Amino acid sequence: MAKRTILSIMRLFGGNERRENVQLPYVPGNAVEGHCSECKCDTVQTVIEVEGLQIKTTRCEKCGHEGPLMMAREKAKAALRDLVKKRNSTAPPKRTRRKPEDPAQIFRRLLEGKEISHAVKYSIKSQYEIGQVIKHPTFGIGVVTAILEPSKISVTFEDTARMMVCNRK
Ligand SMILES: [Zn+2]
Repeated sequence: MAKRTILSIMRLFGGNERRENVQLPYVPGNAVEGHCSECKCDTVQTVIEVEGLQIKTTRCEKCGHEGPLMMAREKAKAALRDLVKKRNSTAPPKRTRRKPEDPAQIFRRLLEGKEISHAVKYSIKSQYEIGQVIKHPTFGIGVVTAILEPSKISVTFEDTARMMVCNRK
């Protein structure tokens, strides 16, 4: 008797036979796919209680177990698969290799606030310090950027940085 009532309700709301066409919101009597904790598999379940648009409780049509609707495992798997696919379809962030700075740009920056007129003539015998502006007979104006060894300095010219010998007595 009770079963017949449920079946007729299901038919009324487009239950069992038209399961694929069931649209939200669900109403009690609708059939849905769910995972039954008793059967330990996905079964057809009858919606018992609905709260808003959410199905609250269902009854397994196989064993009659009532409880909160658990997502069908196959469906859960499919949903996970979709998530994984979605994640993998968005390409990993491209590593943007920073373009090495243009030597002329570095040169200009190094010269900022410096007096070119104060540039000292480069000599292999002289001692230099970082930030000093020098004038080389071939390479022109340069800025000392590093003391590599007591007798070696790195000088940035407009075209490139060069290692220069210094402090030679
Ligand atoms: Zn069951």
